[in-house]
Amino acid sequence: MRRINPGSVNSYIRYGNVKIPKSIQSECPQCRITTEFMINANFQSSKNGIVTESSCPTCKKSTVFIIMTKDGHEEQGEHADTYIYDVQASKHLINHIESLPNIPKDLIRAYRSAINVHQTRENSATAVMSKRVIESILKHFLKEKSKGQPLSQQLEILPNHVDLAKPIQSLSQLLQAESSLNKMLELESEMDYETTSLLVDLLENIIEYLFVLPGKIEVTHNKITKKFN
Ligand SMILES: [Zn+2]
Repeated sequence: MRRINPGSVNSYIRYGNVKIPKSIQSECPQCRITTEFMINANFQSSKNGIVTESSCPTCKKSTVFIIMTKDGHEEQGEHADTYIYDVQASKHLINHIESLPNIPKDLIRAYRSAINVHQTRENSATAVMSKRVIESILKHFLKEKSKGQPLSQQLEILPNHVDLAKPIQSLSQLLQAESSLNKMLELESEMDYETTSLLVDLLENIIEYLFVLPGKIEVTHNKITKKFN
């Protein structure tokens, strides 16, 4: 399941007290091409939401959309939270990282292979591909310095070659006193729904970067350590 950003909704129709999407710009879960889905008016509704289908104009395959008409959306004029049923997106990072800038293609390929061989329980192949993923990450950042060095040594010096502070420092610019965003946060100017959605995405990103990811790495690290002790 993947949440549709309100910025990707091209038009809405009214449904009771809420507005539900009529046309959505999204990546097709089947053919992976970004296209416009027209939401079928012939939907199944329940107390909390709507389940409906739409065919991809490119591959013609049907995709399921889930539109939440209840939770916290009783206010007049609210836009209903919408999700696209995309099994792959919920399963793996891979579908998110492909759209990010600056990720080496060979890293994506190695990571995808690692996931595939893990799913088919090919343990040695998973070990080989996982090592390749780690090597590819290190090579990307360390370049020449990665040559002939053991992985442990490369990881040790990795933080000197990655600007880990940059994502946070760039936010400082965004929130400068005279910035549009800061004026909105100080209620000197009004924030529209699309901006509030981006703002909420940003909160999630900051929390993930500072708390979720370091915490996850620590938990997995501890599990691995425990397994070998
Ligand atoms: Zn398609």
